[in-house]
Parts: sequence; structure tokens; C-alpha cells
Amino acid sequence: MSYAGKTAIITGSTSGIGLGIARSMAKAGVNVVLNSFTDSLEDHALAEALSAEFGIEARYAQADMSDPAQCRALIERAGRCDILVNNAGIQHVAPIDEFPTDKWDAIIAINMSSAFHTTAAALPMMRAAGWGRVVNIASAHGLTASPYKSAYIAAKHGVVGLTKTTALETAQEPITANAICPGYVLTPLVEAQIPDTMKEYGLGREEVIRDVMLLRQPSRQFATVEQIGGTTLFLCSDAADQITGTTISVDGGWTAL
Ligand code: NAD
Repeated sequence: MSYAGKTAIITGSTSGIGLGIARSMAKAGVNVVLNSFTDSLEDHALAEALSAEFGIEARYAQADMSDPAQCRALIERAGRCDILVNNAGIQHVAPIDEFPTDKWDAIIAINMSSAFHTTAAALPMMRAAGWGRVVNIASAHGLTASPYKSAYIAAKHGVVGLTKTTALETAQEPITANAICPGYVLTPLVEAQIPDTMKEYGLGREEVIRDVMLLRQPSRQFATVEQIGGTTLFLCSDAADQITGTTISVDGGWTAL
């Protein structure tokens, strides 16, 4: 079954990987619902631009992924969700004994619990439509750890676990659930980590990129948002019908180390 003409809801899709996935989807003929917690003219303009460029239906839906009710309302108000991409995410870097509780709670809510709430709301729609794809954007940090990112790593490991359970609960239906585990992709989220990491390690920007961030990425190259978009489309293709409950790493070899 082709994904063209289907509707994808992509959480956290006004920038970075989410926007990249939305562009890949739109280019392939998928209607898209963009989302973030803001409600600005720029947010709506992003959807209008996608619609104009690719001739698909695109709209922007404001919902704060830290709020369970808003997560569920995002899906329910869309009225249709063939493809759910759980992508919204934030980061905070600090040692465990200094990690602010409010940052821990926000990261667990946005990066992990939101995927539970949106999936719970989307599965009945996918079942009614007779087809569905859940694609969770986890991370290489859903499979391995690094210091100072306790909440992010706990949340991403949780997302990988949720993906497996979603797959088992839908295994005998035309629905799949998988997680993509990117290594470092140069997006605003990664840009924002550079100053903290520079402070943490006492290094300059280029050294942080080469010797800290990409140290564990053997390709020594950032992955691109287009590559994550292409991997998402593959998981939505017929070729991926029997791929469920697993992770696909797009990490330049990080998790092979
Ligand atoms: P980004 O900061 O560029 O984009 C994050 C998006 O989430 C934005 O659209 C932002 O508005 C939205 N968002 C933030 N808080 C939200 C909230 N409360 N409700 C709704 N939307 C919210 O980040 P990115 O690098 O594109 O990351 C996207 C996802 O990919 C995240 O889950 C991140 O953990 C994951 N990831 C990123 C990398 C990387 O290197 N960039 C690597 C692995 C995984």
C-alpha cells in the first residue's frame, strides 16, 4: 500500500529533524501535520510553504508535548493519523547530582511520555483505517549512554522499549512500530549543546564537534535531516511491512564500536 495520500503527524516539526522528515514526506506525496508548542505566524507559514512546494495538504497544529492531554488532542483533532512520527525532543546536559528536577521531568515528558500518549490516541485511528506506521525518533543514546545526559538517555531508552511493546501489541495487524536511532545530526538542538559541552570539557567549538560530539561517530560526519527523512519513508514503504519492533541506526557506525 503506497504512503502517497496518507496523513502523517510529526511532533516537534518546526525545525531540525522533524521538519526534515515533514519535507521528505511532503515530497513523497504524504499530507502532513506539523506541530510545536508555539503558535506563531511562522509556524503556519511553514505548513503553507510545504503545501505550495509539494502540492500536498499541510497544516500546523499547536500542542505542547509536555502535556498528556495536548498530546492526545493533537491526534484526535487531526481526525486521521496514518503515520505517526514521534520526534519532539529537548536536551539538558549536567551531572546527575546537579541535574535540575524540572529539566528531568520536562525531558521525560517531552522525549518519552508524549510518544505513549500520541500512540495511544493514534492506534484506534490506524486500526479503523486498516494501516498504520509508528516511527519513533529515538537516538544512538537510546542504545548507548554518555555522561551528563541522564534524562535524555533514560527517555530515549524508554522510547526504544515503548517501540517494542507497540510492535508486539500490533504484530498481527497491518501496523508497524519502529525507532530510528540517529547519531549526531547538526540541528538547532545540537547547536544548543555546543556551548555547554565547551564549558564541560574546556574546549573550543571545532574541538567539541570533532573530538567530543563526533568522537564516537566513526564516519566523523554529521547525519543529515534528509537521511532521517529517507529512513522514515523506507519504514513507511511496503518493503518494511515485516519490519517492526526494531531500531535502525543512522549514526555513521557509532553503535558498531
Ligand atoms: P530541534 O530542537 O531542531 O527540534 C525539536 C523540535 O521539537 C522543534 O520543532 C521544537 O519546537 C519541538 N519541541 C520542543 N519542545 C516541544 C514541546 N514541548 N511540544 C512540542 N514540540 C516541542 O531538535 P532536533 O535535533 O531536530 O531533534 C529532533 C528529535 O531528534 C529529538 O527527539 C532528538 O532527541 C532526536 N535526535 C536528534 C539528534 C541530533 O543530533 N540532532 C540525534 C539523535 C536524536
